[in-house]
Amino acid sequence: MPLAYPPFKSCPCGSGRSYAHCCGPAHDGSRPAQTPEVLMRSRYSAYALGNAPYVLATWHPDTRPSDLHLNPATRYLWLKVHEACGEEVEFSAALQVDRGERYVLRERSLFTQVDGRWFYVDDITPPTLDAPEG
Ligand SMILES: [Zn+2]
Repeated sequence: MPLAYPPFKSCPCGSGRSYAHCCGPAHDGSRPAQTPEVLMRSRYSAYALGNAPYVLATWHPDTRPSDLHLNPATRYLWLKVHEACGEEVEFSAALQVDRGERYVLRERSLFTQVDGRWFYVDDITPPTLDAPEG
C-alpha cells in the first residue's frame, strides 16, 4: 500500500510546492500528468512514497514489468530535472539504500502519449554518456 502523505507537506519531487498542488492530483487520478516532465516527477514521487501501483499504471504496456517490488529501505533524497524536451526528460535522482552509500542515477527517459495520457516508455540514456565502463 502507498504511504499516506500529508497534502500540505512539500512534494517529494522537490518542486517546492505542496503535495496537494504538485504530484498528489496525478497520484489520486484527479488530474493526470499533462506533460512528460510532470509525469516524470510524479513517478519519482510515487517511488519515494512506495506507490508501486502508480508507477506501473504510468508505464507503457509494451515495456511495463509484470510486477514491481519497491524496496522500503530505499530513500529518495532528491530529484533534479536537467532537460525536458518533446517526449524526453533527462534527470538525476539521488538514492540511498539501507542507510548505505548514496548514489546518483542519471537517466534520459522516453515518454509517449496514448489516448491523451502520458506514459513512461524506457530509459534511452546513451550508454557512453554516464555509464561506467565494465
Ligand atoms: Zn511533485
